[in-house]
Amino acid sequence: MTQPATSATKGPDDAPAPTPAGAVGFAIPHRDRLSFNLDVDICVIGAGLAGLTVALEAARMGASVAVLEARQVGWNASGHQIGTVMPGFGVPIGDLIARIGFHDTRDLWSLAKLGMDYVRDLATEETMPGINLTQGALEVSNVDIGDRLIGRLQMLGEDFSTEVEGWQIDHVRDVLKTDRYFHAIHYPTAFQLDGRKYLRGLEALARQAGVRIFEDTPAVSIDPSGIRKRIVTPEARLRASDIVLAGNVHLGAPLQRLSDTLLPVWRYAALTQPLGARLAEAISFAGSVTDTDGIDHYRIVDGDRLLWSSPETTWAAQPKRLGGAIRRRIRTVFPQLGAVEIDQIWSGVVGQTVHGMPQVGQLRRGLWVASGFGRQGLNTTAMAGQLIAQAIMHGDERWRLFSPFELVWAGGRTGRIAGQAISTAVRAGASAAGLLARYRERAAAREAIHEARLEAAKQNARQARPPRPPKPALADQPAAAEPHETTPAQ
Ligand SMILES: Cc1cc2nc3c(=O)[nH]c(=O)nc-3n(C[C@H](O)[C@H](O)[C@H](O)COP(=O)(O)OP(=O)(O)OC[C@H]3O[C@@H](n4cnc5c(N)ncnc54)[C@H](O)[C@@H]3O)c2cc1C
Repeated sequence: MTQPATSATKGPDDAPAPTPAGAVGFAIPHRDRLSFNLDVDICVIGAGLAGLTVALEAARMGASVAVLEARQVGWNASGHQIGTVMPGFGVPIGDLIARIGFHDTRDLWSLAKLGMDYVRDLATEETMPGINLTQGALEVSNVDIGDRLIGRLQMLGEDFSTEVEGWQIDHVRDVLKTDRYFHAIHYPTAFQLDGRKYLRGLEALARQAGVRIFEDTPAVSIDPSGIRKRIVTPEARLRASDIVLAGNVHLGAPLQRLSDTLLPVWRYAALTQPLGARLAEAISFAGSVTDTDGIDHYRIVDGDRLLWSSPETTWAAQPKRLGGAIRRRIRTVFPQLGAVEIDQIWSGVVGQTVHGMPQVGQLRRGLWVASGFGRQGLNTTAMAGQLIAQAIMHGDERWRLFSPFELVWAGGRTGRIAGQAISTAVRAGASAAGLLARYRERAAAREAIHEARLEAAKQNARQARPPRPPKPALADQPAAAEPHETTPAQ
């Protein structure tokens, strides 16, 4: 995986900036590997966003916490995300209602909002200098969905207390100069931040709260039976009252069956070279843009560069081999940008569950899972971290709202092949639907022009017609014929 290294997207290992007073120190003093036996209250496996948030919250509540990380903090998806924080989950709200009913969906939605608020509260310039938080995200439609949009807006706004605005086509095309998009939902309270800085800030806060993080320390097996559970690493053993599995798709040996419930999806993102003034002419929306088909996700960073995340594969590919695909996507949506050079490109693996919802909860007494956050992991890992820490420390049972989303086998190799086929089909379907919608729009425009021309021609014809001779004056008219009796029809 390549690491981007501009000011907007510094890699996890970049030299730390000086720390202003009140800010968490980004300097990581040393990278410990666990080489001695340890007893703690909670052992978290995996130092991504999920593991770090559980650890931070539990430590703040007074627990002694050790985090085991097989490689380095944020090595996978968490260190490669592009920092958009959205409300809800990566599953359409209608699907959730169909599965678990309106009330539980509403409760889950509020939990996801807690996650969003948590990130916003933590990610201040004072605490995480350079986090660069900006407001607003647009979900644009590739097809003309005016009617459906109104229904969704009403539901999100009225029933799910989510701030949303419906944008008409003209408004969307005013800020995104492309005929690819039609209507949009604007989320004014969604936001974006520097994803790497958030990860680093979270790590620093966790260390400050007393969390001990051990890198290059894979958990190779666990024994979750008994009150004190055992965790084995290559050089040491731990005992803990609670274990939190936050290893995402790479968890492996400690609970292979759990890893098998996730479909690994490699997601790629790229940062372009500076594009100059032409970028501002094409895009004047300052926040993130995603499309309803989940194909493209982008925003402007550093003034005139595009941060663009698009293709996905269910196998690992060299990120640089996907550069052409990202360039093509940019060109397809914004042809006026011309040739766009890619500066950096990288990837991370997200864990996709069969039902699309994250895995949050207790597998057996003292064995917890926080995994499967898919493409929308910023608010949801923050939510899961709080829920699990509060469950362990205070017996909070809200995690049970996730119980209807069972651990379902993701289908192994066959699942990956099917996953790729589905993703390709969705993209092809979206592209065909977009093509049809644009065709209809052009046909409607042609029709409108045709009608306008017809109307103009009629108008001209009316004006060109010789004026009618004036009607004769009453006196000149012949006398009206005498009225005669009519026989009513039989
Ligand atoms: C390109 C890209 C862009 C994205 N953009 C966004 C975005 O804008 N907004 C958003 O909300 N989401 C985004 N996401 C999704 C988000 O990054 C993920 O959902 C989230 O980071 C998942 O976090 P995690 O902690 O569950 O997993 P991970 O980041 O995978 O962390 C798990 C960690 O566990 C460690 N581990 C695994 N097994 C073991 C073991 N046995 N022992 C010790 N350690 C172990 C791994 O090494 C890893 O570091 C994006 C993802 C990608 C790839």
